[in-house]
Amino acid sequence: MNHVKTIRCFIGILLAIVLLLTCAACSREQEVIAAAPNQIQELTVARQEEIRANIEDAYTTEQNLTQQPGQLTEEDFPEGTKIMYLTFDDGPSSNTQEILDILDTYDCQATFFVVASGYDNEYQNIVDHGHTLALHTYTHDYETIYQSEEAYFEDLDAIADLVYDLTGVTTNLIRFPGGSSNTVSENYNIGIMSRLAEEVENRGYVYFDWNATNADASTEPYTADELYEFAISYDYEDVIVMLMHDTDYLDTTVECLPRVIEHYKNLGYEFLSLNENSYTAHLEIVN
Ligand SMILES: [Zn+2]
Repeated sequence: MNHVKTIRCFIGILLAIVLLLTCAACSREQEVIAAAPNQIQELTVARQEEIRANIEDAYTTEQNLTQQPGQLTEEDFPEGTKIMYLTFDDGPSSNTQEILDILDTYDCQATFFVVASGYDNEYQNIVDHGHTLALHTYTHDYETIYQSEEAYFEDLDAIADLVYDLTGVTTNLIRFPGGSSNTVSENYNIGIMSRLAEEVENRGYVYFDWNATNADASTEPYTADELYEFAISYDYEDVIVMLMHDTDYLDTTVECLPRVIEHYKNLGYEFLSLNENSYTAHLEIVN
């Protein structure tokens, strides 16, 4: 009898130890998840120095055309990190408030690449909701901005001034209308994208393209369901820069947004605003 009691007691202690170890492992995992953003920040800065030091010789060769010195790639992020950078171009618009409300509901940060759309109250509204304002251009008129480098920078300065006057925000985060890979600029100036991409960096700007989109800028008028299907098809990427648009006529983007956020949240993505150390998702420049 005593012998049985001893065995039971021994098993009890063993179970207690196993339980204790499991709990310790769980809470450590939670700490690691919670600490991820800071770790990313540290890693990206250190990695950026390393890239600057190593890449200079290689970066002029053709296969490295889109790999600028200092640009971070997905390999620079710790294993298991999943980040979503939602970006909204061409706003603000009559849909901005609704987009902000949705982002609030899901506690997401996003980045708005703005133009001079006439919705002057919405710029500060975006800032007040904790999101990042970035520059797209003042007119977004391809013929105007891609005439020449001078014309482009004049237009970029104009949107920078507007944003500053309305919000007090200054930013070096930009996105080229049509993306750096656009071909429309060929109609106005051969080679201008290659020169602009270099010149904006010389002037201290960081330009962003994207590696995902809900295809809302397509000439095809997709339904909200179709935009959702496009948007959720990038979950093989650990770091996603998602192109969407904030315009008067794109109610479908607003409609699909909650479901897109839910999809990626369920997969463990964190929704952050872009900053100058973020993954730039540069596309290949073809003009
Ligand atoms: Zn645009």
